[in-house]
Amino acid sequence: KRGLGIDVAKTTWADIGGLDSVKLKLQQAVEWPLTRAAAMKRLGVRAPRGVLLFGPPGCSKTTLVKVIATQVRSTFLSINGAALYSPYVGDAERTLRETFQRARATSPAVIFFDEVEAMVGKRALGSSANADSVQERILSTLLNEMDGVESADGVLVVGATNRIDMIDAALLRPGRFDHVVYVPPPDYNARKEILHINGRKMPLGSDVDIDDLASRTEGFSGADMANIAREAALLALRHSIDAQRVVSTRTVPLERSARYAPPNIVER
Ligand code: ATP
Repeated sequence: KRGLGIDVAKTTWADIGGLDSVKLKLQQAVEWPLTRAAAMKRLGVRAPRGVLLFGPPGCSKTTLVKVIATQVRSTFLSINGAALYSPYVGDAERTLRETFQRARATSPAVIFFDEVEAMVGKRALGSSANADSVQERILSTLLNEMDGVESADGVLVVGATNRIDMIDAALLRPGRFDHVVYVPPPDYNARKEILHINGRKMPLGSDVDIDDLASRTEGFSGADMANIAREAALLALRHSIDAQRVVSTRTVPLERSARYAPPNIVER
């Protein structure tokens, strides 16, 4: 079924530049409940049911969750919020219930909802009454399933969104998305690291100045940075078909995606 699948791509912490404090927070919020469920229970700490990541598009929310899932060797079930309504997926509520069933049967498991605002956001499907009622049913199915997930089940729900202001408040109550974590755009050092990571397999020219590029790309997303390296390589290829040319970043236009205004949401 489309919109539901297991991703086995191996991604590691080394593939993600910067974000040290986010990585640490996620290890605590995602790894511990799955790997130390019994110890947490003994200490009387309730394991979180869900973690919501928010922040600008293209800043590695998805990648972070994949790394965690790989790290703890858990099943990774991924549902895209918008794709859930696709006619190809079929009955959205059933898909949702089946995903939780499958997660419980193959625990430890991470259920990842990308673009969660498209799934259960306020007015995400426009104002048509019919669309609203479908969305309401999805929301109540999701709340039911999340309330039914016991910490011992080893099932953790992780959501990602660029529009946390659109997420229904019921989902943000403790016992649902217990942790809300902001994934910021990369700072200077992170931008340098992303260029290094994406350029490490390229024959870089002597004119490539990573420090300079990083300082000229304030406000760029991680995806924008990865794109700079890719564009530079494609330019080299275009100019010599035998690909003898080394990669230069001098001629690459530095283009960034749209600006993102962080909403006033407190992390927890
Ligand atoms: P969206 O909100 O659009 O779904 P996202 O926040 O989930 O985006 P990803 O899909 O994880 O972002 O990242 C997109 C791509 O950008 C990644 O595949 C990677 O190539 C690059 N990228 C983003 N941030 C980083 C980073 N910190 N280090 C290395 N690569 C990064």
